[in-house]
Amino acid sequence: MEAAAEPGNLAGVRHIILVLSGKGGVGKSTISTELALALRHAGKKVGILDVDLCGPSIPRMLRAQGRAVHQCDSGWVPVFVDQEQSISLMSVGFLLESPDEAVVWRGPKKNALIKQFVSDVAWGQLDYLVVDTPPGTSDEHMATVEALRPYSPLGALVVTTPQAVSVGDVRRELTFCRKTGLQVVGVVENMSGFVCPHCAECTNVFSRGGGEELARLAGVPFLGSVPLDPELTRSLEEGRDFIRDFPNSPAFPALSSIAQKV
Ligand code: ADP
Repeated sequence: MEAAAEPGNLAGVRHIILVLSGKGGVGKSTISTELALALRHAGKKVGILDVDLCGPSIPRMLRAQGRAVHQCDSGWVPVFVDQEQSISLMSVGFLLESPDEAVVWRGPKKNALIKQFVSDVAWGQLDYLVVDTPPGTSDEHMATVEALRPYSPLGALVVTTPQAVSVGDVRRELTFCRKTGLQVVGVVENMSGFVCPHCAECTNVFSRGGGEELARLAGVPFLGSVPLDPELTRSLEEGRDFIRDFPNSPAFPALSSIAQKV
């Protein structure tokens, strides 16, 4: 007889959201970070698991670079990024000796670390665990989904930019979700237009509407369009809390409303 799934260290997590994108640079880590911050401001307890092993950027975006994870009896203790301890973060970035160090590992070693991140981190009680994945649909995605599958509800949030190429890539991402039985909680269109800070006119730098159209065709929810916003870039570079500090900024309404829809 097959053994029952081990509840492990994710037993106290109520919702798990995998953040996926067809390719790099579309804002997947940005959306993961801001979703976590918006959920936290809505009173939720949130964890972030950064399994983007070759490009772990979340510690920098949350000004947690250089912090260390510790061991306790029940596993690795994640890093708390705020004083209230309402956002905890685990990232390969905390295991590297310097931010410039690269993870040059073959698949099996990466997959083993992902499994360890899932089974050996003492997350405690969380309302949401946001999982930032590498771009595309690789072995690491399969390893992540397989390791997380016993802990439902497990949903996927797909990030795209509006241009056709990215939307084409993201279609493959939706196919991946269907084939692996992941429920798609929705599509976010990022870098969707640029609002001029002087005249407030919106220029659709990369065209607009591709994400919404894709969501409609795939029959999954559309969660919103996040414009290109220099204040968001600045906030991420400085490791600031955008949701708290930039409520009048163009990207704020979309970013804060995504948290109400997941
Ligand atoms: P990915 O995780 O998909 O590789 P990132 O989240 O790291 O992409 O984003 C790439 C870069 O684009 C980052 O420097 C980030 O600050 C910036 N960025 C992402 N989305 C926006 C946006 N809506 N407005 C302004 N800058 C953005």
